[in-house]
Amino acid sequence: MSSPDIVIVGSGIGGATVASALAGSGASVLILERGARLPATPHARSTRAIFLDEHYRPKEMWREAGGAPFNPGNYYYVGGNSKFFGAVLIRYRKEDFSEMEHHGGVSPAWPFSYDEFEPWYSKAERLFRVRGALGEDPTEPHHSQPYAFAPVPDEPPVARARAELRGLGLHPASLPLGIDIEAWLKDGATPWDAFPNTGTGKVDAETGPLAEALKDKDIRLETGAEVETLEAAPDGRSISAVHYRQGGERKRVAPKLVVLSAGAVDSAAILLRSPSPGGKGLANSSDQVGRNFMNHNTCAMLAIDPRRRNDSVYQKTLMLNDYYLSDGRGGKPLGNVQLLGKIDGNVLKASVRWAPRAALDAMARRSLDWYLMCEDLPDPESRVMVDGAGIVLRWRRSNMEPLKRLTRVMRDNFKACGYPVVLDREFDKRTPSHQCGTVRMGNDPASAPLDPFCRAHDHGNLFVVDGSFLPNSAAVNPALSIAAQALRVGGHIRRTELSG
Ligand SMILES: Cc1cc2nc3c(=O)[nH]c(=O)nc-3n(C[C@H](O)[C@H](O)[C@H](O)COP(=O)(O)OP(=O)(O)OC[C@H]3O[C@@H](n4cnc5c(N)ncnc54)[C@H](O)[C@@H]3O)c2cc1C
Repeated sequence: MSSPDIVIVGSGIGGATVASALAGSGASVLILERGARLPATPHARSTRAIFLDEHYRPKEMWREAGGAPFNPGNYYYVGGNSKFFGAVLIRYRKEDFSEMEHHGGVSPAWPFSYDEFEPWYSKAERLFRVRGALGEDPTEPHHSQPYAFAPVPDEPPVARARAELRGLGLHPASLPLGIDIEAWLKDGATPWDAFPNTGTGKVDAETGPLAEALKDKDIRLETGAEVETLEAAPDGRSISAVHYRQGGERKRVAPKLVVLSAGAVDSAAILLRSPSPGGKGLANSSDQVGRNFMNHNTCAMLAIDPRRRNDSVYQKTLMLNDYYLSDGRGGKPLGNVQLLGKIDGNVLKASVRWAPRAALDAMARRSLDWYLMCEDLPDPESRVMVDGAGIVLRWRRSNMEPLKRLTRVMRDNFKACGYPVVLDREFDKRTPSHQCGTVRMGNDPASAPLDPFCRAHDHGNLFVVDGSFLPNSAAVNPALSIAAQALRVGGHIRRTELSG
């Protein structure tokens, strides 16, 4: 096979969206994806299979620095982690693009403003067919275009919660979602959050941008192709080859341009593992590759009224940002609150295996299930490292105070709404769902491996486009920001590398 013009490593949000932006450019593009397409089997709608048997987890272990191995919730399939995502496709707030003072330190600015980035958010919302409503959320940044589709409707218990929160003077708002609710429910009456998408109900990286990209005959996808290392040219200024393993065979491809989009942990690991003169890996003259790993500080909160049943099927349609830019009284920011997909006894049992099943079922039938999300700040000592082929993750959490305070505030709010029992539990380190920051972008090559178009400062033909470029984690879900930047980078590649 002759070498393609461009190799994209990974078909997740970053890789698939760059591919869609390259469609029609005339460039030959090869997407190398480690995973396979998700098969449509009954496991896909079974909470037992997903949460208790952990059917979809990878067969690999990462290690915590200094010790214990763990099996990460990091999904290797065509479409990447987005196959399992909650499909919340929300913009960072305008303020997230500037420095912001937090309890645990300062959240760094992006190298460009929200206003400059805004058109790419609008394009990404079209690509992912996002449904939402403008004008409900006081932190909502300027949108140059309205959502193309009305929000996914609240189920009755959620509509009631919306009214109750409004009654407290708060501003609950519809979650912007990449969900076609009829198509999702046709395949089974379940939530979608953390469920694999084997149909078309969720607009994820595969059903959205990848499907668009593959309409171009010059764009090809190879599955089961695990990239191991990149090879630099002898002068070190460019990447000359991509080395991967497929079907037990070692292969090498030599494109003109490489887009690394293996996810924030795996992209960093590939760069760190790649041979380099000083042994620090590639794109790493700043020594920042793998550092600044962030993942949000999150907890689940169950608001329970034993007298009322919650018969929601999907539940995940509401958010609250009243504590996003301040604590509501002029203090420092706390974070975002949004509904989880409706949980059941199996989901709860996965966290408290000792608890009696009947009690968990009874609790789940009466709970409204929320997700509290606070910003994790970049710290060079919070990092991805490699140990041969293995991955070592030292997630040093930061800025935990907002999570404590948000938990307290929301517990009081739910009690005031008439839920006498409010339980909370932090998500653990095995869940790197919102991983980011490990190959960050910035203007200064001394402190950031990538320039503001995600091009490696060290190698002119290498782009890294996935959660790793994010300079801060903000306190909202990352996928739409990754997709918007991927469209921006794709446009930049077309202009600077493919024209003429
Ligand atoms: C359960 C869950 C719920 C979530 N909910 C939301 C949500 O509602 N909203 C939101 O914004 N975000 C959500 N997220 C996070 C979101 O899915 C990620 O931020 C997003 O998918 C990251 O995209 P990415 O391109 O950085 O990487 P990924 O999606 O991880 O894609 C990386 C791709 O690279 C492939 N790959 C990895 N290593 C190699 C290799 N060596 N060779 C070749 N291919 C490789 C992977 O298989 C994968 O396809 C959720 C995540 C999870 C797990």
